[in-house]
Amino acid sequence: MNNSNYDYDLFVIGAGSGGVRASRIAASLGAKVAVAEDRYMGGTCVNVGCVPKKLYVYASQFSENYRDAVNFGWDKVTPGFDWNTLRDNKTKEIQRLNGIYENLLDGNDVDIVQGRGRITGPHQVDVNGKTYTAKHILIATGGWPYVPDFQGSEHVTTSNDVFDLEQFPQRVIVVGGGYIAVEFAGIFNGLGADTRLLYRGEQILRGFDQEVRDFAAHEIAAKGVDIRVKSNIERVEKLDDGSLRATLISGEQLDADLILYATGRVPNTQGLGLENVAVNTNDKGQILVDDHFQTDQPGIYALGDVTGGMELTPVALAEGMALAKHLCGNQPVNMDYDNIATAVFCQPNIATVGLTEEQARDRHDNVDVYRSAFRPLKNTISGSPERTLMKLLVDRDSDRVLGVHMVGPEAGEIIQGIAIAIKAGATKAIFDSTIGIHPTAAEEFVTMRTPVTAD
Ligand code: FAD
Ligand code: NDP
Repeated sequence: MNNSNYDYDLFVIGAGSGGVRASRIAASLGAKVAVAEDRYMGGTCVNVGCVPKKLYVYASQFSENYRDAVNFGWDKVTPGFDWNTLRDNKTKEIQRLNGIYENLLDGNDVDIVQGRGRITGPHQVDVNGKTYTAKHILIATGGWPYVPDFQGSEHVTTSNDVFDLEQFPQRVIVVGGGYIAVEFAGIFNGLGADTRLLYRGEQILRGFDQEVRDFAAHEIAAKGVDIRVKSNIERVEKLDDGSLRATLISGEQLDADLILYATGRVPNTQGLGLENVAVNTNDKGQILVDDHFQTDQPGIYALGDVTGGMELTPVALAEGMALAKHLCGNQPVNMDYDNIATAVFCQPNIATVGLTEEQARDRHDNVDVYRSAFRPLKNTISGSPERTLMKLLVDRDSDRVLGVHMVGPEAGEIIQGIAIAIKAGATKAIFDSTIGIHPTAAEEFVTMRTPVTAD
């Protein structure tokens, strides 16, 4: 595909989930590719997102495992926790992954350009004062934490910095009610911090099934997270001893060692030079693209978090793959955004695929709800009061399963398998004819026989 008029066939800005995948696949299809990255190989997911987050989730679960073990006959111990060990082992693993990403690109002959890319023309990107020309430019610059403007906002921490704290905070306030807030409240609580979660709305996790939200909030609170809804911070001040004092809109004051703001993310387009080309954004600053990821400027493409939508790594990966095959392999873009499964790695996990009950009732006349809420077998002995929720939503007219939801251990692992059935259009009859694996929690999904409510 080499086009001799340009330095590159494809110049990618951002070596995150979408950018690395697009670069690698394009190069493997014979294109001459470069990728510019100004922070870290692998982007948000590898460095300050999914991977270190999940490692910290694992770390946070041990406190509960120690407690659960006692009724199974293990000695009661009060183990100490060393933050530095966790943080430094995490960093080593991330460095290993950075190396793997670099080798992946090297191995596919992708040129890595270290520095911040700035678009200076329809086929032109500047990095560190050097100009590169390309037939196609891909913007895969991801997102950046958003912190609202308020007095003392400079004292708060975001997900960009929370992974590398010098010291473990004993008292933590998390602000927000989305994925990051809920996951980090679980992490800090499990690691032993006194943890509060402040959410401005009525119930955390807006957008998830209402019953799942209520059930999860109850379980998270039962584990010790002080969830305060209809609550927000008005100002923050730093005290002489280095700790932080938050004054809430209610007037109440709360002291903490760390205040984590997880109030959403904004597209990372600052200094990208969009004003030099015809790339347009919506009112949230997300880059507008067509079905082929092309922006309003022919030859310039964008995908992943910088375009909004479902801000998930597998989505950015799939988009990167689809675009590379389209541009360099003449294949049609075949992205299907329906029934994308997702998990919140709080404790217990939440995972979901398909419609919520509210969406199902909105879109279908006759919806049957199958629900099972139970104490998992392990907890009959462990003594833990934690319960599991499973829910199936079925269109009575077609028998199609419209949505599947779970709050419970390993929900992400379980729902990933079920997502395949949903993509394949499984009916409730197929769920019913599937013989379970016993004894598991997951077998409940194929043994729920009677709808709990019907229209
Ligand atoms: P990114 O991965 O953000 O990559 C963008 C890259 O571009 C970055 O490396 C950045 O440094 C670089 N860049 C930006 N501007 C420039 C420039 N001008 N020049 C050069 N380089 C530039 N998703 C999941 O699916 N599962 C999870 O469990 C999960 N957990 C998460 C936890 C946290 C705390 C966060 C913040 C996110 C999480 N996500 C998770 C979301 C996931 O990380 C993102 O959806 C994904 O990384 C998006 O990929 P991307 O390629 O669009 O952007
Ligand atoms: P989300 O958009 O999920 O949540 C943001 C939260 O902050 C919402 O509860 C929102 O409230 C609240 N909020 C927004 N503005 C303010 C404000 N001014 N004051 C107080 N609260 C505010 O964003 P996150 O930052 O949690 O995560 C970003 C994205 O990253 C997620 O949407 C997800 O796509 C991805 N991600 C995925 C993960 C996974 O797959 N497990 C894990 C982590 C992140 P309201 O509901 O009222 O709008």
